[in-house]
Amino acid sequence: MFSFGSMCVKLPDADRIAKFPRDTPDPPDSEDNYVHASPHHIEQDECVWLPDGDIILLPRNEAIGFCVYREVLERESRVLKDEIARQLPTAVTTADGRPAICMPDTTHELETLLTALFMGKDYYHVADKPAAISFIYLSALVRMGHKYEIQDLVDEGIARLKKYYPTNPMKWENIRRRETYLETCATAAPRVIALARLTDTPILLPGALLDCCMLATLTEADMFLRNATGPIHCSELKELPSDMRARVMAGTALLTTARAARTLGVLRTVPDSCCRQPERCALAVQRTLQDIDMDSLREATRVRHWYEPLHAWLWEDGEGTLCRMCNAAATQADATMRMEEWINLPKTFDIEVEGWPESVHAIRTDTISKFKGSRYLY
Ligand SMILES: [Zn+2]
Repeated sequence: MFSFGSMCVKLPDADRIAKFPRDTPDPPDSEDNYVHASPHHIEQDECVWLPDGDIILLPRNEAIGFCVYREVLERESRVLKDEIARQLPTAVTTADGRPAICMPDTTHELETLLTALFMGKDYYHVADKPAAISFIYLSALVRMGHKYEIQDLVDEGIARLKKYYPTNPMKWENIRRRETYLETCATAAPRVIALARLTDTPILLPGALLDCCMLATLTEADMFLRNATGPIHCSELKELPSDMRARVMAGTALLTTARAARTLGVLRTVPDSCCRQPERCALAVQRTLQDIDMDSLREATRVRHWYEPLHAWLWEDGEGTLCRMCNAAATQADATMRMEEWINLPKTFDIEVEGWPESVHAIRTDTISKFKGSRYLY
């Protein structure tokens, strides 16, 4: 599953790793990156250094140490217990006799784990109220929980990810609500895919792949506007394994086609069979078709707009363009087709996802039951 590095292996580019900011995502988990500090020259971590602790953990990338209780580590994790037992007979000790154990983890990973285990840090709440957790902490907790078989950490993190990547499209559209669970952005989506695979949680994949499709279709200008000093090309997508990258490419094409097909489907519902002014409404459709030029079509079919209702784009004049019956028929057709596309999302990415909604009825029932049981409108 993983291996521990040996003490004090020198890095060719140690400076680069040592300077890696502690609140940014971790450097690649490569054996080559190990640079454990000597126990005689470690800096005490400002936060996790228990004065009466009896064991010191050394991260792989910085000359820093975390002093904690061995008994608690051994109780929380069978994997840690085995590793401590393996290293203890030959472990170097500090001047005051505490053994130092070399860990394969970064400072950020260890600090996140140990702060939760020893300092009572609850990343999911502020003043006992649920709060958005930053993705870099959630990711570290889930990966460390998985690595050291501390299932509570995995379960809590995955439960929070499921709230940010819901299976119900009404909840998906409520981005403000989703952001109360998780502080993240689309560039983290490839790492969500990695977590989904690591923990065998495929239900996270459609939403995360959708975010990847949006990332893939951001223009260079968009990237520039969002972060003038950052990379223009989307380097995060390169983290994806090749099969997932293929899914993003194929999915992007299918989602674009779906949006175009929905446009035609909605236009075909007008005039409605109950329309009392079919000539007028048919003329409105004709005018809409004439007004669609390549630029507006290109913009409208971009993946970032994939799930948006079509009404505002097709009928810019608003309510008066169509008669009441046609307006209702077009809006209803759009809503139904959108939900069908959502249901189809796993197939779009060629993945099987147990628990994904299988019918429009199921989505509506789920939405109504959640609405009844919550003071929040989904
Ligand atoms: Zn009409």
